[in-house]
Amino acid sequence: MEQTPKANRIHIGFFGRCNAGKSTLINMLTDQPVSLVSDVAGTTTDPVSKTMEILPLGPVVITDTAGIDDRTELGALRMEKTEEVVKKINLAVYVLRTDEEPTSDDMHWLGLLKQNNVPVALFINEINSATNHLDESKDTVKNVMVGEGYIAAHTGLSDLATVIGSADFTSDAKRLELLDLLGGLTPLDVEGEQTLLQGLVEAGDTIILVCPIDSAAPKGRLILPQVQTIREILDYRGLALVCQTEELPAMINSLKSPPKMVICDSQAFDRVDELTPASIPLTSFSILMARFKGKLQDLVVGVEAIKNLKAGSKVLISEGCTHRRQCDDIGTVKIPNLLKKQGHTDLQLEFTSGGAFPKDVSQYDLIIHCGACMLTRREVLRRIECAVVQGTPIVNYGVLIAALHGILERAISPFINEIKR
Ligand code: SF4
Repeated sequence: MEQTPKANRIHIGFFGRCNAGKSTLINMLTDQPVSLVSDVAGTTTDPVSKTMEILPLGPVVITDTAGIDDRTELGALRMEKTEEVVKKINLAVYVLRTDEEPTSDDMHWLGLLKQNNVPVALFINEINSATNHLDESKDTVKNVMVGEGYIAAHTGLSDLATVIGSADFTSDAKRLELLDLLGGLTPLDVEGEQTLLQGLVEAGDTIILVCPIDSAAPKGRLILPQVQTIREILDYRGLALVCQTEELPAMINSLKSPPKMVICDSQAFDRVDELTPASIPLTSFSILMARFKGKLQDLVVGVEAIKNLKAGSKVLISEGCTHRRQCDDIGTVKIPNLLKKQGHTDLQLEFTSGGAFPKDVSQYDLIIHCGACMLTRREVLRRIECAVVQGTPIVNYGVLIAALHGILERAISPFINEIKR
């Protein structure tokens, strides 16, 4: 389970004001010191994440965020990072204290979670009256918010799943109550039971995977989409055969009957297309990933914009992680060269990586995104939607490369019924 990629885990964000007890709650919930706990308000400054398994949810990533009322000099920057967390998570826990009235900050962030359709569990941290001089008449959170639907009135969030208890879990029953409550929520935009090879592989099928080992390949290992695909073929009880590009004909010829499908790295698409008989379906890891995590259909529609590119057109090339760039890096070298070779010269190219996907993408004539293997489905859908809503065409590496080589029809033919063009 520890090996479950981060992008395939349920992401849970913890929110609340400084000293609401988020970090204490996370540490007690996970039974590990994930977050630094102190009485000094604002101890958690940047989001802190930890992968782990908590039942009944399974493999998760838990993220602690800075207090949403951080008024320090860096507060605005921290709130931007917290906002990025809201856009990535599948579930949220919002922490309030029994001895403080909810503020407009609380309502703002709860409202933001609602706007983003993130299911929220409310944890109301029962502060020990002996140490905090709690005046029962000020037990506002419990009495006013829960009893009278204060949050519903201010944010539209109704019937919030709520646990009231001490964040340091003086009783283990509270820990189980919160876990049960989280387990009962339906996480937003997770892959669920869907798989990369959904509907494509059956027991006994032979699938050939073409994985070029060039200077851009990581030393001594395969990349995540390749490993995930092999694993899934094994799960389906299929036969996964792996080779490099030039060994493909020998691999095909060694088989008594043709393989069910060839899946290749996008960078080798044109050569693999030449080497794979037309009767054998061919696609790429990147296109499979787009189908698994995002809306392949929107990325295919985006292809139309390629032919409209002209000198001066603005193109954003965006990658989902900050891997070390190689000399013939796909995003910064291979794709720009391929566009040039196809006559798209003098483009204004901009690059982003990791979490840095711009809010305003309306200025771009095209967005070219990587396969996004390290991003959650939720984040991929958000990026695609951001582009579509702003009228900016978006494609991914696999779709773009296939289109530029004139083999897009072939590359998407295994799932053409799912794409309405
Ligand atoms: S750049 Fe994109 S496709 Fe490549 S490893 Fe990172 S997230 Fe995955």
